[in-house]
Amino acid sequence: MIKKLGSTILLAAALLLSACSSEKSDNDKVEVVATYSIIYDLVKNVGGDKVEIHSLVPIGSNPHEYDPLPEDVMKATDADAVFYNGLNLEEGNSWFEKLMKSADKSGEDAPVFRVSEGVEPIHLESKGLEKQMDPHAWLDIKNGIKYVENIRDALSEVDPENKEYYKKNADAYIKELNALHEKTITELEKIPKEKRILITSEGAFKYFGNAYNMDTGYIWEINSDSQGSPQQIKNVVDYIGQTKVPGLFVETSVDPRSMETVSKETGIPIKGKVFTDSLGKKGEDGDTYIEMMKWNTETIIKGLQ
Ligand SMILES: [Zn+2]
Repeated sequence: MIKKLGSTILLAAALLLSACSSEKSDNDKVEVVATYSIIYDLVKNVGGDKVEIHSLVPIGSNPHEYDPLPEDVMKATDADAVFYNGLNLEEGNSWFEKLMKSADKSGEDAPVFRVSEGVEPIHLESKGLEKQMDPHAWLDIKNGIKYVENIRDALSEVDPENKEYYKKNADAYIKELNALHEKTITELEKIPKEKRILITSEGAFKYFGNAYNMDTGYIWEINSDSQGSPQQIKNVVDYIGQTKVPGLFVETSVDPRSMETVSKETGIPIKGKVFTDSLGKKGEDGDTYIEMMKWNTETIIKGLQ
């Protein structure tokens, strides 16, 4: 009986504590959950100090597959808005769908927003995968701008009081992104056409290739498929043999060993790391969307001389 009473008091104390803390100014912020670091950064740029963001997949990891932690379920349950990429990204082991169910956010009216809404999707090309969409739309900065517009509209919907603030932030950020998009086009044009081929482990650069006029090659097409099988290695080695490409690249969120094998077999060196599915660590290279896109362009230009 005493024990029971004790736990009732504890529960009451916990409720009281949480009631008090909700009055703190911190909790006036819009609580946001983003599925991975790139969306985190876009939301941060639009939401500024009006949002508190929890990013799910850790920096340097692959968002195609993830095992949410108890903390993630808690944050997703409490969130005023959840942002995800969609286009077949958070689909490996259905982790995102399951998380939204556990967080009671799978209903139609739940504040769950697909940031790629309105993007023209590109489909996968590998045999058996043709029906699936390629998720890596953000690597075309014009699509990044669409993401930002969607985030601006979603934040204005859940927090209409600060609509003007979100608009102002989004406008300034979009201006910067437009300038970066134009600069990326002119910079990459300097690479001679026959060397303008981007070979990576995952085929993450289709949208990028379309936007910036580059051919692309890969070992496997998408991280949720098998990675680095002998057949996949053979295919890319054959492809490289038909080109004059002077360098290969590895992604920061992918195991480099398969590309090292390709490099050994072709004699073409790996010229650097590029960012695809994750930002760099805070304070290091590529730690924002803008910095990662700049880094990729510079690395590609240096590597394909
Ligand atoms: Zn990927």
